[in-house]
Amino acid sequence: MQPDLTTENSPASENRPASENRPASGDRIADVRDIVIIGSGPAGLTAAIYTARANLAPLVIEGEISSTSDQPGGQLMLTTEVENYPGFIDGIQGPDLMANFRAQAARFGTEYLTEKVTKVDLSVQPFEIWVGDTHYRARCVIISTGARSRMLGLPAERRLIGHGLSTCATCDGFFFQDHDIAVVGGGDSALEEAQFLSKFARSVTVVHRRDSLRASKIMQDRAFRNERISFRWNSVVTDLLGEERLAGARLRDLVTGEESVLAVTGLFIAIGHIPNTSLFTGQLDMDEAGYLITHAGTATNIEGVFAAGDVQDHTYRQAITAAGSGCMAALDAERWLESP
Ligand code: NAP
Repeated sequence: MQPDLTTENSPASENRPASENRPASGDRIADVRDIVIIGSGPAGLTAAIYTARANLAPLVIEGEISSTSDQPGGQLMLTTEVENYPGFIDGIQGPDLMANFRAQAARFGTEYLTEKVTKVDLSVQPFEIWVGDTHYRARCVIISTGARSRMLGLPAERRLIGHGLSTCATCDGFFFQDHDIAVVGGGDSALEEAQFLSKFARSVTVVHRRDSLRASKIMQDRAFRNERISFRWNSVVTDLLGEERLAGARLRDLVTGEESVLAVTGLFIAIGHIPNTSLFTGQLDMDEAGYLITHAGTATNIEGVFAAGDVQDHTYRQAITAAGSGCMAALDAERWLESP
């Protein structure tokens, strides 16, 4: 049930012939690069477009193809219609937008490595970056590793993920034709998922822990107008039922304390995100939620290390703001590299 993002869900991957803009396989790069960009969402790929056009020959270490949100292309790979990215009058699919970003950066000579960084040492200059046993060195690093889906923390999640439980309506919605489905959360993501799932499902119940939504007014209006979407207010999921496949969700009403079972065969978790910063623990300053702290634009506490996008922004978290901060990081990096 979990999507294979190398196929139909990943138009970006279709644009990736093996030889295109990549370091040769097994190449242990001994020379020092000007810039390595870690992460390939709107922030990382915008930084790549700018630094590539500045002749800095960036290497983007874009992550592994996987079914989670910390994958090449970032969270937009798990999104349907993007209606608010400027320049697309009729909107554009998230994966198509990221394929465009990637191809645009490739056009100016960006190199890609479809692997995950496993370790960094930012205490030395040039900085050291490991992908397994392969070792890269760079004078400057831009971190744009984004954020991933928050889970409820129920033991049953591990058992049922991919078996009726999902964090990605875009990837899995198709499998739930005529099912009764729940979506947990009260933000834009939850309502976007509910809206999308209502195209397939018989019913979609949004389970939210409060009695008012955090989502934008326009998303709320759409959800309230949609006859297939209903709401369970002031409710939390306390357990997921079913051994091999999801068969229901146990809910608790936080006002009355009442427990009930919601008969659903699909449940989508859309309760926000966690920044992908564990690689940098103890090296870069972070806030209490783990987001990287930036100052004076995109600078981190280490000179020559810049951060852009959702990894350092828990306020705006939009594709356009991530892209904007990727541009800022590229310009900051370029100036830093030129400075005496
Ligand atoms: P969000 O705005 O942080 O909303 C998370 C929701 O999950 C909140 O309603 C929160 O409840 C609930 N929640 C958090 N932890 C929970 C838990 N442990 N159990 C139950 N519920 C929990 O996150 P998001 O919806 O992912 O959106 C993130 C950002 O992306 C936002 O800025 C949003 O506007 C943007 N976004 C935009 C679009 C679009 O424009 N098309 C689409 C998706 C996302 P409380 O409300 O009680 O805190």
